[in-house]
Amino acid sequence: MIVGGGIGGLCAALSLTKQGFLVSVFEQSKSLGEVGAGLQMTPNAMKVLTALGLLEQIKKVSFSPENAVIRHYQTGKKFLNVPLGEGCCSRYNAPYLHLHRADLHRILLAEAKGQGVIFHLNSKVVQFEQDDRQVSITMESGETFSGSMLIGADGIRSKVLEQLQKSLSFQCNHKPPIFTGQVAWRGTIATDLLPKGLIKPDATVWAGPGRHFVTYYLRGGKMVNFVAVEERSQWTNESWNTAGDVEQLKSAFSGWHSEVTQLLAAADETFLWGLFAREPLSKWHLNRVVLLGDACHPMLPFMAQGAAMAIEDAFVLAKELSGVVLENSQNVEQALTRYTHQRLPRTSKVQAMSKANADLYHMKGGALGRLRLNTIGMVTSTLPSVVNVKLDPVYGLDVTQ
Ligand SMILES: Cc1cc2nc3c(=O)[nH]c(=O)nc-3n(C[C@H](O)[C@H](O)[C@H](O)COP(=O)(O)OP(=O)(O)OC[C@H]3O[C@@H](n4cnc5c(N)ncnc54)[C@H](O)[C@@H]3O)c2cc1C
Repeated sequence: MIVGGGIGGLCAALSLTKQGFLVSVFEQSKSLGEVGAGLQMTPNAMKVLTALGLLEQIKKVSFSPENAVIRHYQTGKKFLNVPLGEGCCSRYNAPYLHLHRADLHRILLAEAKGQGVIFHLNSKVVQFEQDDRQVSITMESGETFSGSMLIGADGIRSKVLEQLQKSLSFQCNHKPPIFTGQVAWRGTIATDLLPKGLIKPDATVWAGPGRHFVTYYLRGGKMVNFVAVEERSQWTNESWNTAGDVEQLKSAFSGWHSEVTQLLAAADETFLWGLFAREPLSKWHLNRVVLLGDACHPMLPFMAQGAAMAIEDAFVLAKELSGVVLENSQNVEQALTRYTHQRLPRTSKVQAMSKANADLYHMKGGALGRLRLNTIGMVTSTLPSVVNVKLDPVYGLDVTQ
């Protein structure tokens, strides 16, 4: 039983059915879908999606960026230019693609349904109980279900983690997610509405003091995705995201390079997200219950790795459970321990890298921050391979091998 039909939950459902398990997904929403925004799918995640047989479908609806670029928020000067495209594909054995979240979700969902995954919508899980043979879950409606295992893929405010935390045997350093002091506006704009050639076919980060702005194409170039991040002292909203004020967004980025301001001039709708994170947990499982994705390692989106890590988790979990007789508690426990041992150090490292990028993109330290970006630019233009030292461990891993 999987709680949560997001990208992590669907990937787990698909990976597990491919290993021969019978899987049910319980999703609190009335319908399945994703927010109207883009995703950068880096080669490490694409290797998993390829192993799940989805590469050709994904290629049809994605965009292949030429470079990953960091530019100065006013002058447009390039601090960093990392070629993506064919070079990246042959270095890491998988492409770097941009996708609309809804497209990836739709592809995963169709494939999961085709493989026989059972979906329960409008099914908010509020509680679970486990013994040495099975796990039972209770819905908000009072309805109950049981199965051999429970996977909490229920996002940053995970109910499954919350309940694990109450168990005396789950000795974990859990602290609630905290507001990171950053908010993100997200939106998409039809390319037709923009001046021709305004947006370069790159994944571009515009770095400025206390803010950064990201642009990239989706759907073969028909749509542009933007993410605008700003530092704020607090997040007062009850919910994670809320309809954003486009005028406020435009004013936060006024005076920026004309590529940014012209793009924003065409924006008529945006959503605002409070960015929350937490320190790495020390434990992800207890007996027959295990976590994956944002439920156990939410991170700032500044390495574009949150969904990628959930996708990797899903595949590794299914791989470790492959061949395990679920009636045997000891074997289940061993498989979940192997899964956690592989995943926890990796996701903790990526969480830290994502946090560090905030300082870089926001020119932390004023003149020192600008100097840091300039130095990175100089070093990487003379010695491009320096970038690989940082990216190879992230993009180079192939969890399907
Ligand atoms: C601005 C921004 C940009 C990002 N860009 C990228 C990027 O380019 N690349 C990348 O890899 N990642 C990116 N991420 C991160 C990525 O969005 C997340 O890490 C990823 O979506 C997490 O997936 P998940 O399945 O673990 O959790 P979620 O997507 O949060 O899914 C959890 C699901 O569980 C359901 N649920 C919750 N509680 C219950 C319950 N009690 N009962 C039943 N169902 C429940 C929810 O309704 C939801 O459907 C970005 C994030 C942000 C905020």
